[in-house]
Amino acid sequence: MQKVEHIGIAVKSLAISIPLFEKLLNSPCYKTEQVEGEKVNTAFFMSGGTKIELLESMDPGGVIARFIEKKGEGLHHIAFDVADIETEMDRLKKQGFVLLNETPKTGADNKQVCFLHPKDTHGVLIELCMERK
Ligand code: ZN
Repeated sequence: MQKVEHIGIAVKSLAISIPLFEKLLNSPCYKTEQVEGEKVNTAFFMSGGTKIELLESMDPGGVIARFIEKKGEGLHHIAFDVADIETEMDRLKKQGFVLLNETPKTGADNKQVCFLHPKDTHGVLIELCMERK
């Protein structure tokens, strides 16, 4: 595991939250991206060396919509950079963590990603991410 690459925050509306985070961070949203596979619209901000990723559901049955229904808007996941995602997935599996996807999947921002089940990590959803080459 390397540095915190980004922090994911679930929001109901990017139209409302983008201007709010621009004011908060005093830094413009530099990218928005649709992740079809996850049914989310994302928006990215840079704060220091760490990115903030806002996540809005594209459909009412999507994972982000269900998360907001259960817990409300707010912190959704913490993503760590990894040098080799398959090696790190193997290592964590051997340590007893449950992976939510058995093979790396395509995330936003040109990343390969894997999520760990939050029941093993005190309720915090952890994402591993690696820049796609
Ligand atoms: Zn993420």
